Amino acid sequence: MKNLLPASERNIRFAAEVIRRGGLVAFPTETVYGLGADALNPKAVARVYEVKGRPRFDPLIVHISSADHLSLVVDDVPEDARRLIKEFWPGPLTLVLKKSDRVPPITTAGLPTVAVRMPDHPVALKLIEYSGRPIAAPSANPFGYVSPTSAEQVAETLGERVDVILDAGPTRIGVESTILAVSEGKVLLLRPGGLPVEEVERVLGKRVELPRDGRTVAPGMLKKHYSPRTPLFLIGDWNDYFRLRARYGRVLLLSPKPIWGVEGEVVHLSQRGDVREVAQNLFGILYRIDKLDYPAVAVLPVEEEGLGRAVMNRLRKASVR
Ligand code: AMP
Ligand code: MG
Repeated sequence: MKNLLPASERNIRFAAEVIRRGGLVAFPTETVYGLGADALNPKAVARVYEVKGRPRFDPLIVHISSADHLSLVVDDVPEDARRLIKEFWPGPLTLVLKKSDRVPPITTAGLPTVAVRMPDHPVALKLIEYSGRPIAAPSANPFGYVSPTSAEQVAETLGERVDVILDAGPTRIGVESTILAVSEGKVLLLRPGGLPVEEVERVLGKRVELPRDGRTVAPGMLKKHYSPRTPLFLIGDWNDYFRLRARYGRVLLLSPKPIWGVEGEVVHLSQRGDVREVAQNLFGILYRIDKLDYPAVAVLPVEEEGLGRAVMNRLRKASVR
């Protein structure tokens, strides 16, 4: 594919020029690959929605590389946000703050707030810096489908509709950023992600308000998402697994830790039972499942703490109910 380029210095500079001219660049971050456009150019942002097939009510995250960029997109940074930025940027933490007038409505889906983060990836940071623009970027996958953790996955699903795809290998964290809404004195979790909520609470010295179970708290946070085409079932116990086998015949089992003695086929999401490894492998394995032709997939749960919250959130949304 002509548009799939290794993320060399020269190709990053070329991609930055594409951004400046209103084009689309898929690029690696530490979480997943993003589909980027100049966040301040409404026409370029419109193309992001179009290429992804993303509904216009689902706002984008604006990626920045400097404090100057932050003051371009928000006028005022509350104290809690300042502390989080100091501690966790660059990193997998997105903050939803009141937007400045310079951010066009299409980028924030008409909301008075903007979601902003500084990614912890040299290629992403250079791309933003060289283009001189904040870059609006959702995950680089067709809407509702599994997020990409490799450049090949972007190339296979979005193909030539993206001007450039910068390839820097698989992503380190593998699930999207944690999203927090920060307003005067209040911090609300909009989406669990790569930064554990426990770490946020440690730094702020107070509790983060958690969404009530199953509630849609952020716009665009649909119940179903991240879904492979193969029906996926999050199982509670072995009875669930045997029921699925009775119903579907062949069932691929995904396990977050090594298990033995199961008769059917098993894929280990982690060889060590380490939730970070599970997060890293999750989307890549969900993506490959669709090529394997199983009638159904069963997944064993992980503990709902730390990164496990993000993993369970993605698995629930990917699963059939
Ligand atoms: P994605 O870019 O696909 O990882 O998703 C970005 C998500 O961030 C959206 O689906 C929203 O749920 C959330 N988000 C972005 N901007 C805002 C905002 N201004 N207010 C609340 N949530 C937001
Ligand atoms: Mg996404």
